Amino acid sequence: MSEPTTPGLPPSDPPPGDEDAQRRAAMVEAVASEVLWTNRYLGKSALDHRVLQALGTVPRHEFVPAGMRDQAYENRPLPIGHHQTISQPYIVAIMTDLLHPQPADRVLEIGTGCGYQAAVLATLVAKVYSIETVADLSAEAGERLRRLGYDNVELRQGDGYLGWPEHAPYDGIIVTAAAPELPEALVRQLRPGGRMAIPLGPRGGEQALYLVRKDEDGTVDRRMVLPVAFVPMVPGG
Ligand code: SAH
Repeated sequence: MSEPTTPGLPPSDPPPGDEDAQRRAAMVEAVASEVLWTNRYLGKSALDHRVLQALGTVPRHEFVPAGMRDQAYENRPLPIGHHQTISQPYIVAIMTDLLHPQPADRVLEIGTGCGYQAAVLATLVAKVYSIETVADLSAEAGERLRRLGYDNVELRQGDGYLGWPEHAPYDGIIVTAAAPELPEALVRQLRPGGRMAIPLGPRGGEQALYLVRKDEDGTVDRRMVLPVAFVPMVPGG
């Protein structure tokens, strides 16, 4: 008899004795449960199992400050210095899922932070480009991602508001800081048929996560997904 599993959760069998893998599996289970409770917002009760699998492989404890490793697999955000945070695993999961990531995709991320979201994407798609405004964070994330073997991620320090036109168009764009309005440059850099996940809302005001889609004919529509609380996007970063 096998144990009952949460719907949409891939069977995971962490090796006995690998404590991090076991804590990671519990985190994935917590994320899958939160998806289930919030199914009215998400319009689904389970995420793409590949997204959960990706969360189950990325060593989140390597992305948090050394003193917080014991909290690395709790389903919540944590401070990473420079007044920034590593996003809650649930949020990383639903934003990744919103992109419908495919193995051949090229994805742009705005707000590298510690590099965790980039690593999750890197396990699912061919290439990840990520921009971070804080030079120290970008450098640390670059060193960390290289050390952990995520060699399909390219980082740049700069203002994500302007995107990264040299590699456009992107199949998906994920913005991990809240913008007051939809940045036009990012919409331009999304390929027709592409998808963008972005928190929108005024500084200090209410924010919501949006899914933005560009049709094959270039028409752009947006759908509100759920209320969120992200750090603000710094203009001109
Ligand atoms: N993606 C990260 C979360 C980062 S928090 C994760 O995986 O956990 C948001 C990040 O966006 C911060 O590091 C912040 O410095 C960065 N940021 C804010 N404004 C920005 C801008 N205009 N361009 C690029 N990055 C920006």
